[in-house]
Amino acid sequence: MSEIGRHIRELHSTLPEGVTLVAVSKFHPAEAIMEAYDAGQRVFGESRANELAAKASSLPADIEWHFIGHLQTNKVRPVVAHASLIQSVDSERLLHAIDAEARRAGKRVDLLLQLHVAREETKFGFLPEELDSLLADGLLSRLDGVRVRGLMGMASNVDDLRRINADFAAIASEFKRLKSLGIPELEEMDIISMGMSHDYQLAIANGSTMVRIGTDIFGEREY
Ligand SMILES: *Cc1c(COP(=O)(O)O)cnc(C)c1O
Repeated sequence: MSEIGRHIRELHSTLPEGVTLVAVSKFHPAEAIMEAYDAGQRVFGESRANELAAKASSLPADIEWHFIGHLQTNKVRPVVAHASLIQSVDSERLLHAIDAEARRAGKRVDLLLQLHVAREETKFGFLPEELDSLLADGLLSRLDGVRVRGLMGMASNVDDLRRINADFAAIASEFKRLKSLGIPELEEMDIISMGMSHDYQLAIANGSTMVRIGTDIFGEREY
């Protein structure tokens, strides 16, 4: 078995039941993805629309592709065509663009709203108060092309475990709060996507149901 295959087997045997492994394959070639596939992995994450489309077209059809990067509205079409879950919806404009493209294509797209909790890492994602104004006017009930499945978030990229822990706890508590609002379109939410190679154990301890792991499986990326 390849080294990548061994990493997949190891993760599958150690992750708790109910936690989905997304193998983040961005910048890694098709051969690396196939080594993970041959070890049983079926869910892969990509962060660029063109790369996702190219890989999805040439690799096995039973792979589930998740989009996890910042998505520009002019790149929505290939992502809606190939992704089974868009994890990184970070603006109302993007939400509308995905809804429009999904209706055009005659489908309903599953997505996660990306929450901004990390202090310095990324400027992308909704603040909790922005989510409130997004939901306030019943917007979701008019977006038939999308289904909100949950939240995605990243912790601050720091060594301070208490900081990371607080970030994950904030994401999990925002998930609970949203579900408790009584908004019908949010009742199907069942995914909290948080945790990467260096912090996924802490994320799981805070209630993550989906971890996105790249480096620990495929090694370092070449940018
Ligand atoms: C690249 C990326 C990951 C994977 O990070 P690793 O540290 O390689 O595990 C996870 N989530 C998102 C949003 C990413 O962009």
